[in-house]
Amino acid sequence: MAGVIRRLGILGGTFDPIHHGHLVAAEEARHQLQLDRVLFVPAGTPPHKPGQPISPIHHRLQMVQLAIASRPYFSVSRVDADRPGPCYTVDTLHLLRAEWGPEPVFFFIEGADSLAGILTWHQPHRLLELCELAVVGRPSVELDLSYLEGRLPGLTARIHWVQMPRLEISSSDLRARVRNGRPIAYLVPLAVEQYILEQGLYRG
Ligand code: ATP
Ligand code: MG
Repeated sequence: MAGVIRRLGILGGTFDPIHHGHLVAAEEARHQLQLDRVLFVPAGTPPHKPGQPISPIHHRLQMVQLAIASRPYFSVSRVDADRPGPCYTVDTLHLLRAEWGPEPVFFFIEGADSLAGILTWHQPHRLLELCELAVVGRPSVELDLSYLEGRLPGLTARIHWVQMPRLEISSSDLRARVRNGRPIAYLVPLAVEQYILEQGLYRG
């Protein structure tokens, strides 16, 4: 999209698969915080991921592309896709700063569930120096902000609340639905639903 990017939204995630919760969060953040662009940043595939395996990065990138194709102000970034994990957000933000230059203010978009775990992130103090936080509500997440602020002074001042209709959609539930032969229609964009079926994702 033409024009100078002054306010850049960044939505990191696994996107396995991308769904309407991610898309509404990105769109509401864009609208409410006047973002010029939102980057979707799928995390790479760690060589040895403990726990459940995640789909290869090319499938997750393709599903994001399909989901955002009609929106010129959304784009996908490969910054985390191509490097070996773990993808710490502070490193992602440094790489994006090198790519986008000094001007744009970065707004890291995350669900309240993700903010609740911020103390366990890599170098959370440095994170607060690198971006503003655009926090969207998520069903059934209780946040103890005063506790978090006590452990991470300056956090609250960085937070921009983004309102959205609560959508109880998660990638884990979508994967379970496909596995069990239940529908995912209307929970993900049609093109993503078709891609999942065509490629046989999440059946195993
Ligand atoms: P999983 O179930 O595999 O954990 P997920 O649905 O939580 O997947 P992620 O890729 O982990 O998706 O999420 C990326 C970001 O999007 C996180 O900041 C998360 O909080 C946010 N997010 C995911 N789903 C929603 C939703 N339904 N509403 C608002 N934010 C969401
Ligand atoms: Mg999650």
